[in-house]
Amino acid sequence: MVLCVLRGSNARMSEQVRGTDKMRIITLSVGSIDTNCYIVIHNGDACVIDPGAEANGIIAVLAGQQVALQNILLTHGHADHVAAAVALKRLTGAKLFAHPADGYLLRATDNEIAKMLGLTEAVTPDAALQDSATVSLAGVDFTVLATPGHTPGSCCLYSAAEQVLFSGDTLFRGGIGRSDLPGGDAKVLARSLARLKQLPPDTEVYPGHGPSTTIGRERMSNRYW
Ligand SMILES: [Zn+2]
Ligand SMILES: [Zn+2]
Repeated sequence: MVLCVLRGSNARMSEQVRGTDKMRIITLSVGSIDTNCYIVIHNGDACVIDPGAEANGIIAVLAGQQVALQNILLTHGHADHVAAAVALKRLTGAKLFAHPADGYLLRATDNEIAKMLGLTEAVTPDAALQDSATVSLAGVDFTVLATPGHTPGSCCLYSAAEQVLFSGDTLFRGGIGRSDLPGGDAKVLARSLARLKQLPPDTEVYPGHGPSTTIGRERMSNRYW
């Protein structure tokens, strides 16, 4: 794993290489509340998950990797995960995916939190994430797991072949997502978390905030799960 600092940006950056076909996951910590923005790179194609801030910094990393951005994917509609999505889409022409149940959050640009986190323009997805659908991100097939509870449209992305889960704000290392924000629901979140328990223990989990972990590690040690 490489750890370095993006020049000219606050974003911290680390990189992991996975599997025999060398899928790479670059983690950028962006914005005022350190949201994990992931760049998945495979065979010269790239996708970005949760561009929460710093569109220009994300684009600089993509340029440095000499990869073209195909897709932008939002695990949910909170401003700290989506505030750079419009700029990134405009500057790259990438296709934007989100779950329709979070559309109300993607349009909510007139509240203080959205403004504070830089969401000044409504985000309009090009395509809907649907439970159990397969989306190809950077040429790798991911299954969409609708995991409502933190927000109604929260989703995780799972690749069985690569043993990777992008968990958004549903599951963290040592924690679970909040369900006390508007649109949150503790009972629904519990059902979603129970579903994630079915995944193989070796699955590497990349959450929306904080360090990565594995399903097995969290099953052993996460007292909230
Ligand atoms: Zn959130
Ligand atoms: Zn978040």
